[in-house]
Amino acid sequence: MALSHDRSHEVFQRSLRYLAGGVNSPVRAFRAVGGEPVVIARGEGPYVYDVDGNRYIDYVCSWGPLILGHAHPAVVEAVRRAAERGTSYGAPTEAEADLAQLIVEAMPSIELLRFVNSGTEATMSALRLARAFTGRDKIVKFEGCYHGHADGLLVQAGSGVATLGLPDSPGVPASYAQETLVARFNDVPSVEALFDRHGDAIAAVIVEPVAGNMGVVPPQPGFLEALREITRRAGALLVFDEVITGFRVAYGGAQSLYGITPDLTCLGKIIGGGLPVGAYGGRREVMQMLAPNGPVYQAGTLSGNPLAMAAGLATLRELQSPGFYERLDALSAKLVESVARAAKSAGVSLWLNRVGTMRTPFFVDAPVTDYASARRSDTKLYARFFHAMLERGVYLAPSQFETVFISSAHTEREIADTVTAAEASFAEIA
Ligand SMILES: *Cc1c(COP(=O)(O)O)cnc(C)c1O
Repeated sequence: MALSHDRSHEVFQRSLRYLAGGVNSPVRAFRAVGGEPVVIARGEGPYVYDVDGNRYIDYVCSWGPLILGHAHPAVVEAVRRAAERGTSYGAPTEAEADLAQLIVEAMPSIELLRFVNSGTEATMSALRLARAFTGRDKIVKFEGCYHGHADGLLVQAGSGVATLGLPDSPGVPASYAQETLVARFNDVPSVEALFDRHGDAIAAVIVEPVAGNMGVVPPQPGFLEALREITRRAGALLVFDEVITGFRVAYGGAQSLYGITPDLTCLGKIIGGGLPVGAYGGRREVMQMLAPNGPVYQAGTLSGNPLAMAAGLATLRELQSPGFYERLDALSAKLVESVARAAKSAGVSLWLNRVGTMRTPFFVDAPVTDYASARRSDTKLYARFFHAMLERGVYLAPSQFETVFISSAHTEREIADTVTAAEASFAEIA
């Protein structure tokens, strides 16, 4: 049944000649699972097709943005219409106001918003703002949480960095990395210890409220509440990086799911409907410090780009349809239960974490509650599972430390096919 990858191979060889590592984002290179990436030609609903014409059920979904699946008609139409009116003006547009309004209405903690071009830009800019607002320099982040590739955030940063086993990235000045303090996810005392020592120097705590970049790790009861309380007491800001979770775990993001009000929120992925976008926003008095109202400078030639705004608007409007999240959640639950059952009957140890449509099967037989426990996974076994699934037409993230996403385009049919593939794959690797 071996699939042909001749054309993928040919194209990727050409990419290797001209692009660093053949890719424009490291995890795409399949280094963690071995082999060569398949080169994608197109996507349609829950499927991607490679350049050899092989079809895969897609569980990467562009790493989160595609909650409606590939080439959703409403999104395609919105982008097409926007493109016909011109692709960028460098001046205010109505679509920016429309999308900002939808986001502010969805997340009451956000009083004012600013669009940027990526999640990286969002977290980088939010932290600059937090530092300016508090007059402090230090940031607390969590082991295994990823907040984009900005200097100072590439410290114990999970995901791609974990996958490649890189140390804290070279090229980041030590003097700068020193301003980043690292605590353990789901470990309140580790945060308290940092505040005991550096409390009056800490500008902000930044956290993925549901960790998605060490694989999915949900916050334990009380963890996010404690972060809220500790930061409030110390006069530091709480920054939720909802680049994945925003409009994913609930329409109002993780902050609505867990009932926590952060000072600042970072967004990206879904709000751009598959086009490059990011945003950050929060308390009015903090956001008012941004130029042109205040002294904190942050700008962007293509920020609030009309095509991205159009795609984001079309996406968010679809998400408002009644029962959207309930249906997706039920499908995701069914998938997790069936895969767990398949693993069990094949005698493969699997720990499954799931929050809504974010989930990760960890190849480990103990609970995964933080980065250290995630790292105990058998990544070699994951790599074999990944390739077994790929050969059976299921495209998973090419790394253990990632989130498996489903979209509203996935149906019972794809779930059933995935379970069949998983049964065969578990049997093959067991
Ligand atoms: C993807 C991601 C980012 C970075 O966003 P980019 O658009 O890739 O720069 C930041 N934070 C989290 C939680 C992410 O998952």
